Amino acid sequence: MKLYNTLSRQVEEFAPIKPPRVGIYICGPTVYDFAHLGHSRTYINSDVLVRALKWLDWEPYVVMNITDVGHLTSQADTGEDKLEKQAKKEAKPILEIAKFYTEDFFKMREQLNILMPDKITPATQYIPEMIELVKILEQKGLTYKTSDGVYFNTSKFKDYGQLARLDLAGMKEGWRVDKNPEKKHPADFALWKFADPEEHRQLEWDSPWGKHSFPGWHIECSAMSLKYLGPTLDIHTGGVDHIAIHHTNEIAQSEAATGKPFVKYWFHSNFLDVSGEKMSKSLGNYIRTDDLIKKGYDPLALRYLFLTGHYRTKMNFTYAALDAAVEAYTKLKSMVADWQGKRQRTQLSPEKLDKLQGLSLQFKTAVEADLNLPQALAAVWQMAKSNIPEQDKWELINDWDLVLGLGLGQISSPKSQIPNNIKILINQRENLRKNKQWAEADKLRRQIVDKGYKIEDKHA
Ligand code: AMP
Ligand code: ZN
Repeated sequence: MKLYNTLSRQVEEFAPIKPPRVGIYICGPTVYDFAHLGHSRTYINSDVLVRALKWLDWEPYVVMNITDVGHLTSQADTGEDKLEKQAKKEAKPILEIAKFYTEDFFKMREQLNILMPDKITPATQYIPEMIELVKILEQKGLTYKTSDGVYFNTSKFKDYGQLARLDLAGMKEGWRVDKNPEKKHPADFALWKFADPEEHRQLEWDSPWGKHSFPGWHIECSAMSLKYLGPTLDIHTGGVDHIAIHHTNEIAQSEAATGKPFVKYWFHSNFLDVSGEKMSKSLGNYIRTDDLIKKGYDPLALRYLFLTGHYRTKMNFTYAALDAAVEAYTKLKSMVADWQGKRQRTQLSPEKLDKLQGLSLQFKTAVEADLNLPQALAAVWQMAKSNIPEQDKWELINDWDLVLGLGLGQISSPKSQIPNNIKILINQRENLRKNKQWAEADKLRRQIVDKGYKIEDKHA
């Protein structure tokens, strides 16, 4: 399989560090508002990557964070914490806000048939790991303290900004010092922040750097990914907006701490726009899968629409495009139902066998060519229109749907016996147990058992 690597700006042959295992880290959402179609596109692209790897017999292990602390409204380490701000607005405890929007995010994933990661956990559960990481950087002399936090000194890290090809000298020249006069360089970023007493934060911790303090945004991803996949991850994914700051800083703090390369392949998904502007929470131009469902759309038709564009190309969302996708997807589904009804094993003529093998190769080649899903869909349509027997069409689409995830086959989750809704319950129960909320955890256990699944907790 070939994949584009943002680090080298080239399409490279994919080779994991310890085959067949593939360690993948996916930057999760900041859960202060509803998940929108922009998120859906990025997470579907990562989902197709994971599905394709499984289909090609690799063994991905996927870790994702949920940001519930530290993501400020300004990328320059100033402004309010997005979750604190929303909690004030809704007059609710932060953890309630985070829980509500995390569940919304999980629901969106389920609507779109996105597989659950193997590990998905909120940043607030990794405070000790984050403190440890900052301590290592401090011991190595790579940090400095200002009145509002502990900062990473980017001038002391060779190769800082390589991922985004940053012009560090140019940045310094154009810097308006008033933004944060205590920073030594505009690219320096907060590892740990001190709470402003006026702000009355709900979430703050005691740390070696002060009593009322909290993590900077980037450190959570390094702490979690290094813990489960480190020191070098095979693949790290996220949206293209993360290249210049978030991922650049993840690389700096991780590599400075471990002395090893942080990520082998950087996989970035391009934006979903509406009317030529990025769909975003802050611009307020967003649409949710629930909005589409209310209008009578099948969310999997949206998934089909997203698969018609390559993950590295921008896509503009319009209802006209969605309507066209609905038409194609509905037609495909009815063809699949027809094949299922008519299938019976017949002898293949040598000519049809050739055709079948050609189609199989066409689909596989498209998937292996940096996930060229538009080409893979073209192979699906060629197969649908070909004269190979219905039985073979049915078998091919069952197999291909492991990658597409369009709900066309009988099984659309490769090698997974546990459905998404059960995984969510298991995950929530694990989090409750970590917080020693035994009664609530037990309630979830009963729900899981009622749905026909058995839980066995491993004791040390
Ligand atoms: P956020 O919750 O804003 O941190 O975003 C979570 C993920 O969704 C990130 O990887 C973003 O890059 C991605 N994302 C947000 N908006 C869009 C969009 N309009 N198109 C594609 N990806 C997006
Ligand atoms: Zn991240």
